[in-house]
Amino acid sequence: MQIYYNIASYRQWRQTVRGRVVFVPTMGALHAGHASLVTLARQMAGADGFVVVSIFINPLQFGAGEDFSRYPRTLAADQELLASHSTDALLVPDAPDMYPNGEAEIRIVPGPMAETLEGADRPGHFAGVCTVVAKFLNIVAPTHLILGQKDFQQHVILARMIEQLNFSINLVVAPTMRETDGLAMSSRNRYLTTEERRRAPVIYRTLCWAVREAQRKPLDAAQLTENIRQRIEAADLKTRYAVICNPHTFAAVNGNIGRHDVILIAAQLGTTRLIDNMQIE
Ligand code: AMP
Repeated sequence: MQIYYNIASYRQWRQTVRGRVVFVPTMGALHAGHASLVTLARQMAGADGFVVVSIFINPLQFGAGEDFSRYPRTLAADQELLASHSTDALLVPDAPDMYPNGEAEIRIVPGPMAETLEGADRPGHFAGVCTVVAKFLNIVAPTHLILGQKDFQQHVILARMIEQLNFSINLVVAPTMRETDGLAMSSRNRYLTTEERRRAPVIYRTLCWAVREAQRKPLDAAQLTENIRQRIEAADLKTRYAVICNPHTFAAVNGNIGRHDVILIAAQLGTTRLIDNMQIE
């Protein structure tokens, strides 16, 4: 595996490469969820193609008072995981390389679907995400991009950006990897105390319960949403949002739940913010 610590040296390598380049952007602190994306990337790239992973903790997508400064940085372990999953190139640019003048003067600001849910809770978050991913697509020049379903609103917004800004890239969304008790793997799970970690799977259990209920009989979205909230809060987590919504617009479902709808949950557990989701079907 080649490691490139700046954009210029990566680009030199990229110019020598033809064929499929499958890209997995990350913020590091890698876990088995990331590894599953890299494994999929390897399969898609085949023997002749290339797997490129980036690690960059993007300051632009963190709000004031969020966890940018304490976000886990585990580069040595990350390198080992990526090398053992047949990554060809790892790009680890620093912030001055990505944002030469400190601030990003020009940003990609997504529309109203980015102002709800995660976007309402974290103002400016998706403009930060879209801007950095657009930059990486221009730098990495991949043929394929892999994102996780774990960050549901993120992959929908990025799909829209790719389509509307005419990036010539194939997007693939990979399923959420979970711990044995169902907790969605996340770099932020490291923040949980032993006692919090014990309570965290309530989000997954509630999602499974709610999906089963919605599949079993016609259900009113508002009623089910209220029950979801109660179950989360009974385990002493603070619900930031719990919604049953249209997976394209994120508009809350009014009345009966349809089989394409998605349940999105964000909850605060101590100092840790957890998100998860499940589609009804
Ligand atoms: P992050 O490092 O958190 O920015 O995530 C990098 C990529 O990995 C994103 O596309 C995430 O959606 C994806 N990802 C994060 N957690 C998981 C998981 N548990 N299973 C599958 N993909 C994940």
